[in-house]
Amino acid sequence: MALSIDLSGKVVLVTGGSRGIGRGITESFVAAGATVVTCARSEAEPLPGTSHVRCDVRDPDSVQAMVDGIVATHGRLDVLVNNAGGAPAADAATASPRFHDKIIGLNLSSPLLVAQVANQVMQAQGSGSIVNITSISAHRPAPTIAAYAAAKAGLESLTKSLAMEWGPAVRVNSIEVGLCRTEQTDDHYGGDDRVAKIEATIPLGRMARPDEVGGVAVFLASDLASYVSGASVGCHGGGEPPVFLHIN
Ligand code: NAD
Repeated sequence: MALSIDLSGKVVLVTGGSRGIGRGITESFVAAGATVVTCARSEAEPLPGTSHVRCDVRDPDSVQAMVDGIVATHGRLDVLVNNAGGAPAADAATASPRFHDKIIGLNLSSPLLVAQVANQVMQAQGSGSIVNITSISAHRPAPTIAAYAAAKAGLESLTKSLAMEWGPAVRVNSIEVGLCRTEQTDDHYGGDDRVAKIEATIPLGRMARPDEVGGVAVFLASDLASYVSGASVGCHGGGEPPVFLHIN
């Protein structure tokens, strides 16, 4: 069997696909020959070979209009990558109920909403693949991002449930992303020195590049993963070492 990934003719939606990890995912699908639509809350210059839609993934009407528009323009929707997400750091003890609702809304309720609307199209066409971007923080204590990590853990759970409900037509998988270098990395972690110290703790010696998350997403969306559903694939360079290894 020749192993290559050609997604030409496939229509892919990458939420939050115009920057950060989403951009790497988008560029990977474009490289595989797919037709890619990205979305964000604001207008953005479409990346080469893509189109961009303004859509707030928290808003049901906006999501329905986006998916209807994709089907009207391209005739189908084969792949959804639920990438839009994230959270600022906050103290769980004092963050407001509204803050927690917003974090859980963006990172758990929104991917479910977009998946539901995409699944309607995919069931009708008899095939589809959904890839949820989660986080290594879903499986460990996550001080300062407690609600975010809980939402990502919820998305891991949802992945398995939806895979069971929506098969055999639709496969649903997740990518558990570790630290990934984006436009925001230096601001977030405090500059080169701190980033280098963090990278020294990662078994593969560096943070991921966004296109490396994209490669896993392309694989999961492709026929090479035709029997993979309800799975969580780690893309974290080997994971986080236990703390005792770093105590002198
Ligand atoms: P980012 O902030 O750079 O990009 C997020 C994207 O989502 C942006 O394009 C933004 O416009 C879009 N978005 C945000 N809210 C939206 C909304 N309501 N509607 C539509 N679009 C919206 O973040 P990133 O670091 O590239 O992270 C991407 C995904 O990867 C997130 O789900 C994040 O939780 C996850 N992740 C990131 C890392 C990391 O190290 N960067 C690690 C683990 C998991």
